[in-house]
Amino acid sequence: MANNTIVTVTGEINAADLGPTLSHEHLYCDVSVHSSRPDNQVTDIDLVIAELAAFRLAGGRSIIEVTPEGIGRDAGKLRTISERSGVQIVSGIAFYDESTYPDWLRTATIEQIADYFVREIEEGTDGVRAGLIGELMSHNEPVANASGYRLHEMEERVFIAAAQAQKRTGVAISTHASLGRAGHAQLDVLERHGADLGRVVIGHCDAHWHTDIDLDLDYCLPILARGAYCQFDMIGWTELAADTTRADRIAALMALGHAGKVTLSTDTCRLSQMHRNGGRGFDHVWTSFLPELRVRGVTEAQIDSMLVDAPRSILAAA
Ligand SMILES: [Zn+2]
Repeated sequence: MANNTIVTVTGEINAADLGPTLSHEHLYCDVSVHSSRPDNQVTDIDLVIAELAAFRLAGGRSIIEVTPEGIGRDAGKLRTISERSGVQIVSGIAFYDESTYPDWLRTATIEQIADYFVREIEEGTDGVRAGLIGELMSHNEPVANASGYRLHEMEERVFIAAAQAQKRTGVAISTHASLGRAGHAQLDVLERHGADLGRVVIGHCDAHWHTDIDLDLDYCLPILARGAYCQFDMIGWTELAADTTRADRIAALMALGHAGKVTLSTDTCRLSQMHRNGGRGFDHVWTSFLPELRVRGVTEAQIDSMLVDAPRSILAAA
């Protein structure tokens, strides 16, 4: 893979053709095995294809689809969705919550897990190759305490395997670091095992918030200082934080010069988030969120950095 190409579910594309990109979405998933919410069964591809029309109309061109094994990942379905919607899709390979690990993973060696990632990246399944590792999960903790968080033993093995697979293939690693502010603990494990933190994306940086913006920047700025990406991928999840709160934090990070290392997305994984069901749809970033950034002084160049340049540098091989 040359460093100017990106692997999508329909084959390699020129990195210059990636265009505006949502960096953490689910187009085909069944998170209900974990959440017990029927709303989490997003398995109607005709519905998703119809919903993606609004995404394209708003200006979106590509989606990084990060559904892990164990909650419905189906690369063949993603290829069909891409072919029929015209949206370029990059598929992640990863594992989710420990309760959803496949049986083989529980007894596998770290090398076997790394081999599995490498196989999905280099060969793929039914001709569909993964373009990155993600979303790689460590457990949620309901307190915002970054310093007290530790990965479970099984999670740590999977993260070590991801670091090894990254060294062998050069792909990026995108994580799920929700609620417990797990980002630094994840980076610690990856760093100890030789991962390139400049190609690691810490996900769900906006899953919840303090009222004091400085406490939130205290989490994000050291992630950026370590070279990793800070992903604001729960835009529209107003039950967790108001989008205006997210916009305030992003505007602060832009003013500090971090546009190239911040990415945007809406982590869609519920039927109720679809327009047809009264939800905000895959176009929410353009129709609702970008105006909030603009009134806070975020420039078009900074928006392009977050939607185009940063996803391109995450996906294009080193
Ligand atoms: Zn997700």
